[in-house]
Amino acid sequence: MHKAHGRFAGIELGGTKSIAVLGKDSSIVDRFVLPTTTAIETLGLLNQQLRFWQAEGTFAGLGIASFGPLRLDPVAADFGRILATPKPGWADACVLATLANDLRCPTEIDTDVNAAALAEYHWGHAQGCSSVVYLTIGTGLGGGILVEGRPLHGRLHPEIGHILTRRAATDAFPGVCRFHGDCIEGLISGPALERRFGKSPADLSVDAPQWEFVTHDLAQLLAILIHSVSPQRILIGGGVGIGAAHLLPQAILKVRSLLGNYYPQLDLPQLSLMIQTAALAQDAGPMGAIALAHDAWRRTNSGQARSR
Ligand code: ZN
Repeated sequence: MHKAHGRFAGIELGGTKSIAVLGKDSSIVDRFVLPTTTAIETLGLLNQQLRFWQAEGTFAGLGIASFGPLRLDPVAADFGRILATPKPGWADACVLATLANDLRCPTEIDTDVNAAALAEYHWGHAQGCSSVVYLTIGTGLGGGILVEGRPLHGRLHPEIGHILTRRAATDAFPGVCRFHGDCIEGLISGPALERRFGKSPADLSVDAPQWEFVTHDLAQLLAILIHSVSPQRILIGGGVGIGAAHLLPQAILKVRSLLGNYYPQLDLPQLSLMIQTAALAQDAGPMGAIALAHDAWRRTNSGQARSR
């Protein structure tokens, strides 16, 4: 694989804040952070920042890592747009067209979580692993998947947060997902934990018994991902994911028992190697955007078609 050199731009569109970054090779050298408001205002300000940087020198590539749902099929009429979303002012927003509009450089767009998986693969805890799941557990729960080092899109893109799991028999919490109630996002995202505990999860002692159902549910999700994706690495990021790192050893013990010796080689040390916290923490999004910019540059320099 070519190593990408040059000046790269990256955009991370997040639920509460958005970030534009300027990269030199694989280092971030400047950043511009703003609250995410309406699509028109947010995308307009980000485009203005990109043009400001571009006036000082052209970009070798632009990467856009966005919240979803997002159309990623390059032949679709609505490629690069946000699809139906309850987020006010964002349904049908032309993310790619507005940001890349006048930049004339190779551009790649993907979900924030696929981008974060790619960044972990290049520079984080998934180096050397081409099959990767990146989970973010925070305001929501999302997941990106790399297969053979490439982000998985499929018909749309993975929506890991809405997977339904087997609940603990005595757990009566109804969940908070507005679509499904007790899908995994409805059970263990930040807002779900706050509703379960009646207070911020950061204020609950790490050995409180209330975490029991949470580790149960996380273990269910991890076992589903191990069976369905066969990943070499599962990395967990996001505010809850990083903040509640104490959950992981408990969840891994439960995963071991859920797998039921189906994979004898996946003993506790192997599972602990497979399932880790993400390395890039708060920079997973911006570094993901830079990783996408590198992919755009590579695609152009190798004459490959855009991946579908
Ligand atoms: Zn759901």
